[in-house]
Amino acid sequence: MASSQSSTETDWVSRFADDVIAESERRAPGKPVVVASGLSPSGPIHLGNLREVMTPHLVADEIRRRGHTVRHLISWDDYDRYRKVPNGVEGVDDSWQAHIGKPLTSVPAPAGSAYPNWAEHFKAAMTQALDELGVEYDGISQTEQYLAGTYREQVLHAMRHRADIDAVLDRYRTKKDGAAGAKGRKPQQKKVDEAELEAAEGSGAADEDDGSSGSAGYFPYKPYCGNCEKDLTVVTSYDDDTTELNYTCSACGFAETVRLNEFNRGKLVWKVDWPMRWAYEGVIFEPSGVDHSSPGSSFVVGGQIVREVFDGVQPIGPMYAFVGISGMAKMSSSKGGVPTPADALKIMEAPLLRWLYARRKPNQSFKIAFDQEIQRLYDEWDSLARKVADGTVLPADAAAHARAVGTAAGELPSTPRPLPYRTLASVADITAGAEEQTLRILSELDPSSPLTSLDEVRPRLDRAENWITTQVPAEARTVVRHEPDKELLGSLDEQGRESLRLLLEGLDSHWSLDGLTTLVYGVPKVLEGLAPDAKPTPELKVAQRSFFALLYRLLVGRDTGPRLPTLLLAVGADRVRTLLGA
Ligand SMILES: [Zn+2]
Repeated sequence: MASSQSSTETDWVSRFADDVIAESERRAPGKPVVVASGLSPSGPIHLGNLREVMTPHLVADEIRRRGHTVRHLISWDDYDRYRKVPNGVEGVDDSWQAHIGKPLTSVPAPAGSAYPNWAEHFKAAMTQALDELGVEYDGISQTEQYLAGTYREQVLHAMRHRADIDAVLDRYRTKKDGAAGAKGRKPQQKKVDEAELEAAEGSGAADEDDGSSGSAGYFPYKPYCGNCEKDLTVVTSYDDDTTELNYTCSACGFAETVRLNEFNRGKLVWKVDWPMRWAYEGVIFEPSGVDHSSPGSSFVVGGQIVREVFDGVQPIGPMYAFVGISGMAKMSSSKGGVPTPADALKIMEAPLLRWLYARRKPNQSFKIAFDQEIQRLYDEWDSLARKVADGTVLPADAAAHARAVGTAAGELPSTPRPLPYRTLASVADITAGAEEQTLRILSELDPSSPLTSLDEVRPRLDRAENWITTQVPAEARTVVRHEPDKELLGSLDEQGRESLRLLLEGLDSHWSLDGLTTLVYGVPKVLEGLAPDAKPTPELKVAQRSFFALLYRLLVGRDTGPRLPTLLLAVGADRVRTLLGA
């Protein structure tokens, strides 16, 4: 078990763990610590929502490392109503409109799915990503809970206290503006993508979340219709003694009399459901999206309902800031236009993704890079690993690193030989994934310790290849020339020709990443009559830039490309000689 004692008091995870353990011992001495997340499988669960899971996960993991038992509940809010057909989901067309208002588990899965319904289809992708990320949790299907009558007592209790609930909600009905009311739904990353926001929120009015008052008064419970399965029902009467409930469906006209002490096909409205579950599960820690800090939001209202109605205590609930995405390629937006955790894990290893969440406090926003920035991010990550290895790392950085590379259960899979991502990406770019060529080039990077198998650089190599093929647009890809550019070669002056001659002359003796780096920077120095290790002057820098541009033109027909030493290795000495006119 990895110890993170040195990190105590130094990072946000440790500080929350201190608070959560203390609070759990105060509220439920000797019991497992309970932390929670909620996810709505209303469509592709996007990357921004991962913070809902990672924040409690990291805290739970720290608590486990300290030897405590923790339950991290992930509530799958799959008994929520289907609010809107998300755009751009494969296998889904307008006919899914007919299912709006049904529970997510009663909506058919997209065509071609291996899963029995809508919710299961979108849960599956998230579950797989969470496994890869090393997140240990207890998944709870709210469909299963409600249909099994698990919350029977809580439902009857809420109905008995409907006037109290109504009174709490009423404190905010006059205060809140329309916008705050419409935000009653559980954390959904807004701002990341307006289309997704709409998909997640639907046109849900405030009363969808806190229940509506009909002529028979306010009820915090809504049945799903016994005929059409939709939640467009209105409770017309309720008897506390017999629990007899009458409802009518405004969608199909169906009406029914049921007894709530044996009826399971319905649920508490969101603003009551959430605090009910805090009390039922004894949740000590559950963060939520930053929009929940407004008056009238479900977290604020829930804090009063859990205390005044369910005799419980609100969890420690930090608000987390939005997580943005930079540069998700249009070509990847076939699945609803927003990246999912699975999309991120295709281009980066799980420890790197964990690190992005671990190193930032929940109230700090950050971006996850799908564009060129991912290369710099990986450089930063590798530099951190070197500092950890040589002991120069700062304590908070060491803590974030430890939380990223493993959990209390052990280390996550890693790449045995983590060559720079940008190098792997360049090689993948040039070889288009040809394995033999890739192995040859990577072995030549450092001839003193050649690679024996591509497995040494996996899975990082696979991630870099995926990044190149799915995120880098065709016009930015590197295409090595097949034939020399005779026109350009013929137009060179004496100095241009001499620079190529010097480069070709030194190729064999410099055929490694370090050697070629020295060579390409050294040729312009020699031309200027300087020593190969001379300090660069402004004039020299200009000469180097134009020399590099010439090489790019001759090798790949553009003014820029992957770093030259990598490019030269990738192209291979023979082809370099051909293209440079030897
Ligand atoms: Zn109906």
